[in-house]
Amino acid sequence: MKQAAKRIREIPPYLFAGIERKIEEYKEKGVDIISFGIGDPDLPTPDFIIEKMAEEIKNPENHQYPSSVGMLSFRESVANWYKKRFQVELDPTSEVVSLIGSKEGIANISYCYIDPGDISLVPDPGYPVYGIGTSFAGGEPYYMPLKEENGFLPDLKAIPEEIAKKAKILWISYPNNPTGATAPLSFFEEVVDFAKKYDILVCHDNAYSEVCYDGYRPPSFLEVKGAKDVGIEFNSLSKPFNMTGWRIGFAVGNAEVIETLGRYKSNVDSGAFQAVQYAAMAGLDSDQSAVEANRAIYAKRRDVIVDAFNDLGWNLEAPKATFYIWAPVPKGYTSASFAEYVLDQAGIVVTPGSGYGPSGEGYFRISLTIPEERVREAAERLKKHLGKVTF
Ligand SMILES: *Cc1c(COP(=O)(O)O)cnc(C)c1O
Repeated sequence: MKQAAKRIREIPPYLFAGIERKIEEYKEKGVDIISFGIGDPDLPTPDFIIEKMAEEIKNPENHQYPSSVGMLSFRESVANWYKKRFQVELDPTSEVVSLIGSKEGIANISYCYIDPGDISLVPDPGYPVYGIGTSFAGGEPYYMPLKEENGFLPDLKAIPEEIAKKAKILWISYPNNPTGATAPLSFFEEVVDFAKKYDILVCHDNAYSEVCYDGYRPPSFLEVKGAKDVGIEFNSLSKPFNMTGWRIGFAVGNAEVIETLGRYKSNVDSGAFQAVQYAAMAGLDSDQSAVEANRAIYAKRRDVIVDAFNDLGWNLEAPKATFYIWAPVPKGYTSASFAEYVLDQAGIVVTPGSGYGPSGEGYFRISLTIPEERVREAAERLKKHLGKVTF
């Protein structure tokens, strides 16, 4: 067989193959492993959404090719939800496009704007798709370190002038995976000024806009004046409605960019299953009590594990959003060696921060996507096997 294309061969190696193998070995030996590794809601999709799906799947009209940009009624639902949730006005015919999960659009937007040799500005640590999409399109990611002392926001002033001038896309995402950080509107204002100055397309990934606690409600990037002139926002049904397997999301914002992404999509895919679009509309149009119920569940889990770590010597603040806790490793450990240590000692899986980029070294991520009693069990094991730590 001829070898695969360069872009495939050059995908960075999966850093944690060693740890994954170890987890499998422990499981085979019958060790009870508690995994905080997976960023995928464990809770089921709400019943009313499943019922809508069951109804729509029976309609033969939904069995045909959908439009690749989404049904107008779906795009209207998105626009209404943005108006209610963020007070952002969107024209459903030109400023909304459906996606087969937001990851699809996040990967494909690079093919719409990146030519070989172009640069995109990518957060480090960050969701790997931003950089991979750039590389697939022949571009080069320029990594912006997210530092704790800056609240895990990129320092736009630290980006060299010649890089900023060459950059075509700026990727940001708040609430943030993996750091759990949130951004104030003033940061989005700074982003709009920067993007206008250097003529850069801003892509804001707002996948965690609804996973938030203690009364905090994350904003949309599009709430800021001028944002629609420079950018788009990705959002998804996956996290708020526990629908990661259904593959339905959307992009909203600048009409020219949305049209370009839709035109690209019409050449490579044929849109999201209409029955799934109807199910998603049921979620968007609902009173959002299902989303609120999720928040309450995650918040309890969060408090249990944050308290457990803090009793052992950490000094963590409970995150205001996302279902992630991003924590420093104790003195004497790297991200990988700490992950291995808690696996060996306590049968607990955490994700080494270095997997999200070089600036993630020195941290680990835990995902609150396991039942509260398992979180409590993990807290007990940490107390028993880890003991007090120093930094
Ligand atoms: C989960 C997640 C998404 C959403 O992915 P879908 O493709 O919509 O399921 C997007 N961005 C980040 C950072 C995520 O963690």
